[in-house]
Amino acid sequence: MNIVDLHCDTISHLCKTGAALWSNSSQYDIQRAQAAGIGLQFFALFTRPAESNTCLREILKQLDRFWMEVEDNRSHLQPILNSDDLSNLKDQNKIGCLLHLEGAECLGGDLEILRVLQRSGLRSMGLTWNDRNLLADGGGEGISAGGLSLKGRETLKEMDRLGILLDLAHISVPSYYQALEAYARPVLVTHANARSLCPHWRNLDDAQLKALAQKGGVVGITQVSDFVKEDGNATVGDMLDHIAYIADLIGVEYVGLGSDFDGADDMVLGEVGQYARMPDLLADKGFSRREIEMILGTNAMRVITAVLPTQSS
Ligand SMILES: [Zn+2]
Repeated sequence: MNIVDLHCDTISHLCKTGAALWSNSSQYDIQRAQAAGIGLQFFALFTRPAESNTCLREILKQLDRFWMEVEDNRSHLQPILNSDDLSNLKDQNKIGCLLHLEGAECLGGDLEILRVLQRSGLRSMGLTWNDRNLLADGGGEGISAGGLSLKGRETLKEMDRLGILLDLAHISVPSYYQALEAYARPVLVTHANARSLCPHWRNLDDAQLKALAQKGGVVGITQVSDFVKEDGNATVGDMLDHIAYIADLIGVEYVGLGSDFDGADDMVLGEVGQYARMPDLLADKGFSRREIEMILGTNAMRVITAVLPTQSS
């Protein structure tokens, strides 16, 4: 079983707690992830946009932490930089680690910094977190939200050229549709659910889900309780309902997993070890063996393969 999880905030969390990725008491460590069958994990770097003066410095420290963890856990982790790394992963008993930037505040408007981060291993990025920045408006701007800036469009072109995946979680609705048009390849929404089942602004409405499928993208179902059920008292059954709803609406080939472990306190599956239950839970929900493999990993792999560079640059 090779589960692909499109989002966790473990690196920034470890920077705060000082704990180690190998084993800790938070929601994600290597020991539990391996036991649960994680084959590929997106590790997000994240700072709050309000910390704009220091955010590049903070992101660089988290970037260092990522590479220190890779070094400390060489026999368990494989950084994913190109499509060869992805195909080699199949023969190894390692967790593939894909480096993600959640919100591009630290770039300012400088593509030079994007290129430096790409050379340092960055392979996935969302233009915004919740707020407006120089590239685009985030979903937290609510009714005042606009779309992409010219610099944002330029950034998407450069991401496409460099082989950096585009994540549209957190972005505003106008930015969402404009980015789908402006970015040439399939996109990810790394951690979000269906707004028809839970009316949180971070979730995707039916039209957004259909547009994602048209673009060949994948949405990662998140375990954050507030995005699963409106009152926050979400059950495993409620989370599975989101998977079934989206699969019925747009097709099972566009559904994946994006837990957000270490990004929130209240989760449906409370920690990464619980992912071991996923295959049985999906089977009980009526998904076939092939569909389960798609949801757990092969759908996400399709998008990742379509974007990553073919060899290291
Ligand atoms: Zn997030």
